[in-house]
Amino acid sequence: MSAELITVGDELLYGQTIDTNAAFIGEKLSEAGIELDFHTTVGDQPDKLLNAIGQAFNRVDIVLTTGGLGPTHDDITKKVICKFFKRQLVFHEDILKKLEKKYASQGMTMPYINQNQALLPQGAKFIDNKIGSALGIIIEDAGKIFVAIPGVPNEMKIMMTEHVIPILERRGSRRVIVHRRIRTIGITESAIYEKVKSTIDEKSAVRIAFLPGLEGVDVRLTVKSDDKEKAKEAIEDTQNQFIKKIGDYIFGYDDDELPVVTGKLLLDKKMTLAVAESCTGGWLGKLLTDIPGSSAYFWGGVIAYTDEIKIKILSVPAIVIERHGAVSIETAKYMAEGVKNLSGASIGMSITGIAGPSGGSPSKPVGLTYIGISTPEGTSAKEYHYGRDRNRNRMRASCSALDMLRRHLLGME
Ligand code: AMP
Ligand code: MG
Repeated sequence: MSAELITVGDELLYGQTIDTNAAFIGEKLSEAGIELDFHTTVGDQPDKLLNAIGQAFNRVDIVLTTGGLGPTHDDITKKVICKFFKRQLVFHEDILKKLEKKYASQGMTMPYINQNQALLPQGAKFIDNKIGSALGIIIEDAGKIFVAIPGVPNEMKIMMTEHVIPILERRGSRRVIVHRRIRTIGITESAIYEKVKSTIDEKSAVRIAFLPGLEGVDVRLTVKSDDKEKAKEAIEDTQNQFIKKIGDYIFGYDDDELPVVTGKLLLDKKMTLAVAESCTGGWLGKLLTDIPGSSAYFWGGVIAYTDEIKIKILSVPAIVIERHGAVSIETAKYMAEGVKNLSGASIGMSITGIAGPSGGSPSKPVGLTYIGISTPEGTSAKEYHYGRDRNRNRMRASCSALDMLRRHLLGME
C-alpha cells in the first residue's frame, strides 16, 4: 500500500514552523512497512487543499492530512473533505457533550466556537483526541483510505501511534522496510562512492543514500521486502561490503554517536582524557560531558584561547609560538603534551585553529586547524582544512579530534 501525506498550514510554507509532523509520520509509516510515496504541503486555502487531496487520491491508496482541524475560520480541512467526498457535515450531540465535559473537568466553560468540533463529515469514523478537542477523521471510499488528524504535534503523535498505524497495519500487506545507518567520519561522500562503487549493484534490493552532515557522512541502506529476515540479510551483505572498503572510517551504526563511541573506548581501555582547546573554546569538552558518566574517563580541559594561557598553564614555550604561531603543528603538540602533564590523564588532546570569519592570511587561511594528541607512546599532530563558517569549523574540529582519538584507541594509526 502506498501513501501520501498532506501537511496543511500557511505557517509551514512561510517557514515559520518546521514540519516536524512530516518527519514523525514518515518514520512511523516506514516502520509499519507502508511506503510514503509523496509528501505535499499546502497553505490554509480550500481550493489548493481540494486539489492536493484529489491529486493524492489519484496516485496512492492511503491519503493522510495533518493540520487545519481546529474550530476557527482558518481551519479548512473538514469543509474541504466534505466537498471532496460530497458529504454533509453532521452534528453529533454526544461529541458535543463529551467536549463540554472535558472543558468542565478543567474548570473552564467551552467557548461557543468549539461547537464546530461536534460537526463531522457524514459516514466518517472518528479518532478520539485524548488531550485536545479536534477529533481525527477516517473515511473509506472506493477501496482507499483517507485519514485526517490534527496538526498539534502531541495530539497528532498519540493518534498516529495509538490509532492510525494499528488500523493501517491491519489492512496492509505484511511488507517491511528495514533501514541501517552506517556512520562515517573523515571521508567525503564522493570518496566513499569511489571506494564502494564496484560493489554497488544497481539491481540490488538495497537502496543506498549518502547523507552528508557536519560530523561526517551517513550512508543509509534501505530494503523493502515481504520477508523481514531476507531484508535483514540483504542489509547485512551490503553493510559487510562497506566494512571491507571503508571500515576504518565507520564509527558506528544507526543511533551511535561519535562522543559516546569514543568515550566507551576510553572506558574499555581504562584510559583517561584531558583536552586543551583554543579555537573550539570548550566545544569538545561539551560533547564529552553531554554523556552521563563521562567523569569516569574525562578529566576536563583547559580553554587555552590566548597565547598567554598556552604559555602559562600549558607550558608551551613562548619561542615556539613566536616562531611558528599559535596555530601550528608545533603549538598543537606542546598543548596536547602540556595538558597531559598538567592533568596526569593518560591522553592529552589539543585543538588550535583559525575559526574565522577574520584572522586568516594567505599562509594560514580561515579553517586551518591543527589537532594534537599526546599518549604514553608519544605526541603527534595533524593539519586539517575546514571551511569559512566559524561554528561549523569549531564543530568539525571537535569531531575530528574525537575521531583521531577513536583511531588511536583502536590502534589504527
Ligand atoms: P492546526 O491543527 O492547523 O490548527 O495546527 C495547530 C498547531 O500545530 C500550529 O500552530 C502549529 O504550531 C502546529 N502544527 C501544525 N502542523 C504542523 C506540522 N506539520 N509540523 C509541526 N507542527 C505543526
Ligand atoms: Mg493550521
